Amino acid sequence: MKLAVYGKGGIGKSTTSCNISVALARRNKKVLQIGCDPKHDSTFTLTGFLIPTIIDTLQTKDYHYEDIWPEDVIYSGYGGVDCVEAGGPPAGAGCGGYVVGETVKLLKELNAFDEYDVILFDVLGDVVCGGFAAPLNYADYCVIVTDNGFDALFAANRISASVREKARTHTLRLAGLIGNRTAQRDLIDKYIENTPIPVLEILPLIEEIRISRVKGQTLFEIAESKDSLNYICDYYLNIADQIITCPEGVVPQETQDRELFTLLSDFYLAKKDNEISNVSAEEKLDIVII
Ligand code: ADP
Ligand code: MG
Repeated sequence: MKLAVYGKGGIGKSTTSCNISVALARRNKKVLQIGCDPKHDSTFTLTGFLIPTIIDTLQTKDYHYEDIWPEDVIYSGYGGVDCVEAGGPPAGAGCGGYVVGETVKLLKELNAFDEYDVILFDVLGDVVCGGFAAPLNYADYCVIVTDNGFDALFAANRISASVREKARTHTLRLAGLIGNRTAQRDLIDKYIENTPIPVLEILPLIEEIRISRVKGQTLFEIAESKDSLNYICDYYLNIADQIITCPEGVVPQETQDRELFTLLSDFYLAKKDNEISNVSAEEKLDIVII
């Protein structure tokens, strides 16, 4: 199964991807995680360091594919998860799609592409040009990470439109949304009233998750010596269990930009008004000043 994890930059895709990869490995799946963000830090919490990218390796070997061995580009990470970083095109030049294409081509040459139960692509989704949408060409499922805010839901809507477009030519489903760094989900719910998409999980903002990135470890590794963190691993195991069942998912019908803007801003303003009308006059003044 090929899975593409999308979402706005900084929303928590790589953190979530690494933990889902380990969760899938815990369910006895052979997993390869491919970082497709030019930031090339997707697999950092699995390996504990920034591994060389495919593009760097190809450049070093003058694009002689026959001189590249699997161990040059595939690194073994925590929990038995294998890791690849595609790398980025040169800043201001080149195309992310080309990078993803070269990565898949090389992995196929190395006979590595079909060797895994699950291949997870970790892809940024601020800009869904043809290049960044490229992993959707290989994916069976897309998963979108979002918070309960405007910008991430706008990005989610753009990604949904890309899924709808790509699903015309091959079997691709949107498995669902993962709410991250949010205890609330009212804006997410408002959005999916209009564009029905399953919600796989809602993860609150958890300090240990933030710290895990600095430590270069997944939550599963940290929880080995701290049982009290097992409840966090359960969120990721729950997502993995849903993915393993090959969920039906949806081919989404995105909301038009203007309509989405009105929908979310009206809802947000009504919520704020409501919050303001429920507080004292002094507190109201504070809110207005803020
Ligand atoms: P992306 O890959 O989408 O750019 P990252 O996975 O690198 O985002 O996450 C950005 C930051 O947010 C990291 O410092 C990470 O530790 C933190 N983070 C992600 N998810 C959570 C969460 N649920 N609670 C707290 N911090 C989180
Ligand atoms: Mg990332």
